[in-house]
Amino acid sequence: MRTQVAIIGSGPSGLLLGQLLTEAGIDNVILDRVGKDYILGRVRAGVLEEGTVRLLDRAKSGARLHAEGLPHDGFSLAFDGRDHRIDLHGLTGGKRVVIYGQTEVTRDLMARREESGAPVIYNAANVQPHGFDGETPYLTYEKDGMSHRIDCDFIAGCDGFHGVSRKSVPEKAVRSFEKVYPFGWLGVLADVTPVDHELIYANHPRGFALCSMRSMARSRYYIQCPLDEKVEDWSDDRFWDELRRRLPVHHAEALTTAPSFEKSIAPLRSFVAEPMRFGRLFLVGDAAHIVPPTGAKGLNLAASDVYYLFSGLAEHYHDCSNAGLDAYSAHALARVWKAVRFSWWMTTMMHRFPDTGDFDQKIQEAELDYLTHSLAASTALAENYVGLPF
Ligand SMILES: Cc1cc2nc3c(=O)[nH]c(=O)nc-3n(C[C@H](O)[C@H](O)[C@H](O)COP(=O)(O)OP(=O)(O)OC[C@H]3O[C@@H](n4cnc5c(N)ncnc54)[C@H](O)[C@@H]3O)c2cc1C
Repeated sequence: MRTQVAIIGSGPSGLLLGQLLTEAGIDNVILDRVGKDYILGRVRAGVLEEGTVRLLDRAKSGARLHAEGLPHDGFSLAFDGRDHRIDLHGLTGGKRVVIYGQTEVTRDLMARREESGAPVIYNAANVQPHGFDGETPYLTYEKDGMSHRIDCDFIAGCDGFHGVSRKSVPEKAVRSFEKVYPFGWLGVLADVTPVDHELIYANHPRGFALCSMRSMARSRYYIQCPLDEKVEDWSDDRFWDELRRRLPVHHAEALTTAPSFEKSIAPLRSFVAEPMRFGRLFLVGDAAHIVPPTGAKGLNLAASDVYYLFSGLAEHYHDCSNAGLDAYSAHALARVWKAVRFSWWMTTMMHRFPDTGDFDQKIQEAELDYLTHSLAASTALAENYVGLPF
């Protein structure tokens, strides 16, 4: 088989890139090591920046998002027993975020791809990129006991943090930057009305908590937990009790509970691989970088990478120019590092660290007080939260 762009990974990065290319008349094939149902079973992001929504529209996959997504004009920082609202809309001259689950984004992109008839190869085992340092890259993979090869012009590594693309690059060609946080997030999904119509990020002496949602009937709640915590030790009742303790009283009293239907612990990590291009192989999304979910940036960063790569590929095929592809890594990384900084900063400000001393605690309290009483500081938070331009 031959294609113009071979895409490894059918998460949001791979599907969005594939759909933009297809709409622009550029041939592409997507391969994933797992099946469609497995991918749709993953519960992850839920906060979309306007830039991400724009790209989904451009990929003709935004109709349901506009009908069912929840536009949010602000969120609350809760500390010291009180709420402090960050007016995203007012502070950014009219910008907002949209609450719409990653699972639904993925479902819409998959549906659009099926309509367009572009190929996706699920359950492709042992996918390997080859020859990307030369002019004739190709992929090999196995399916149903047979070996296959796809020749292509370019390979897009959209295969997440644990994928094969980054690992295929010689170690000395890539530089990694990493910070692992000494706690995780225990999250539950439950079909209950959210405790508030906007998100609540709570800093409490017992640890961080986040009240989020997928719809007005489905809530997503998280609490900070030690890394060695086990999900089996957390009954629903224990989770709800702990969440209540970390919220201001009026929210704790308003919290509606029900049996959870998903419960998991996610470790928190910041990671960046540089550069994001190796000859004819491009890393995109989580394959190149990971951020802690505190700033809701992971999926949105994947979208901005896709935008830069898609623009470069369209320029290559339509205008015979490689300027966009040559600038891909530098453009993407400039935005990536700003989001990495923001996610690290929000994580540091909102969590209790095991080694926090009295001095550090006072600094955290002063920062929250300053942030919620200074127009300049609130504006900087809002500007980053709605997403820097791309
Ligand atoms: C608990 C949690 C909450 C989050 N909350 C948010 C949020 O609120 N906002 C936000 O913006 N982000 C959030 N994120 C991050 C977001 O989910 C990721 O950034 C996003 O999934 C990245 O998309 P991706 O397509 O780059 O990678 P992935 O979604 O990881 O997709 C990679 C795909 O590649 C496939 N693959 C892997 N290896 C191979 C291989 N060897 N061969 C073939 N295929 C392969 C995988 O099966 C997968 O389908 C959250 C993440 C977690 C875990």
